[in-house]
Amino acid sequence: MSFNDLGLKAELVRAVSEKGYSTPTPIQSQAIPLILKGRDLMGSAQTGTGKTAGFTLPLLQRLAATRSPKNGRRVIRALVVTPTRELAAQVAESITSYGKWLPLKSAVVFGGVSINPQKQKLIRGVDILVATPGRLLDHVGQRSVDLSSVELLVLDEADRMLDMGFIHDIRKLLALVPKQKQTLLFSATFSDDIKKLANGLLKSPALVEVARRNTAVETIKQVIHPVDKSRKRELLSHLIGANRWRQVLVFSRTKHGANRLAEQLITDGIDASAIHGNKSQGARTRALADFKAGKVQVLVATDIAARGLDIDQLPHVVNYDLPNVPEDYVHRIGRTGRAGREGEAVSLVCIDELKLLRDIERVIKCEIPKRIIEGYEPDGSIKAEPIVRGRPQTRNKPKKRFQHKGKGQSKNTAQHGKNQRYKSGRRAAA
Ligand code: AMP
Repeated sequence: MSFNDLGLKAELVRAVSEKGYSTPTPIQSQAIPLILKGRDLMGSAQTGTGKTAGFTLPLLQRLAATRSPKNGRRVIRALVVTPTRELAAQVAESITSYGKWLPLKSAVVFGGVSINPQKQKLIRGVDILVATPGRLLDHVGQRSVDLSSVELLVLDEADRMLDMGFIHDIRKLLALVPKQKQTLLFSATFSDDIKKLANGLLKSPALVEVARRNTAVETIKQVIHPVDKSRKRELLSHLIGANRWRQVLVFSRTKHGANRLAEQLITDGIDASAIHGNKSQGARTRALADFKAGKVQVLVATDIAARGLDIDQLPHVVNYDLPNVPEDYVHRIGRTGRAGREGEAVSLVCIDELKLLRDIERVIKCEIPKRIIEGYEPDGSIKAEPIVRGRPQTRNKPKKRFQHKGKGQSKNTAQHGKNQRYKSGRRAAA
């Protein structure tokens, strides 16, 4: 199957082949013909599956087939709403590159940067607008955006928009677009809230599902390195140095933790920077660009900042802290092994995180292999302070501990024994 077979215009096929893609990914071959027919669509697909091109290409084709209705003046005919600024920027970039041979104009608006240059661009007229919900509503309030001519609406990563508390903004936006339109909703997971939103919004939608819900991408090699909390940073530096990792995305649970870790890695002689919600948009964009260009070796990110990041061929993802929400583990490791490439996801897990690990393994429906790194064996005398909603919880929780190393074991047996004990620790914490 080629992009030609999907019924796409020559201009789009040309742009796609200039990007170096010859075969559509599964979501593209399923979604593109349906969207071209004008169907509403509910897509279950995570970042990394090629879903952006899956909706961008047919969106461009549908708009190119009709002219802007208002006396030749461009009006917003397609609106793409995304949860994060980074994702908005990436979708806008895709629209620009796939649409380079078509006479369509697009703009992207998100918060954290000055609103005026965005207004200037909007005043000149665009066919396609990519936006995050808050800034889009700001523009609506300031009358720089008119959504009354929207023919095609895309809600990207709808689950994350709800997780981030955007439901009220989304509802406000839905009241501003025409009832009669084509709607595409993408979500990695389908909670009851998403279904409720979809029910009120989509008309007999086609369902397109590529990766089964919550299934960790198969090409990703996953491993857990059990280690004490106080030695995680040291182990991370060791892994980066010993394995000569060149481009590593590291996840931290907190903004403060991300900053501190990036600083500590720098003192270890590793080029690192942090990306999170407290950083200015300029600093986030710069950090991401430097990381993509290979100028920065390690990018430490929080879940929200990293959501939807499109970094080609990212070989290593490290969970410095396990996420509180098991589904975030799937999103995080989805940054590697993209579009069929091999990737590796390493998690540094301390005894406090055994409950989180158990929840993750339940969601991905498999046990992640554990491997203790020599010299970083967990100290069996440390008591667990299980993490509940991001904070260590010491009261009313049974204390767990790693068992002590037995006497008289050979090194290999000792290593095997540690892995076994770690597993029993897991079960004990269950
Ligand atoms: P997405 O899921 O939209 O974030 O896309 C994931 C990555 O796959 C991006 O880097 C795309 O540029 C890339 N990609 C999209 N379509 C294809 C394709 N047909 N073949 C190879 N790579 C693709």
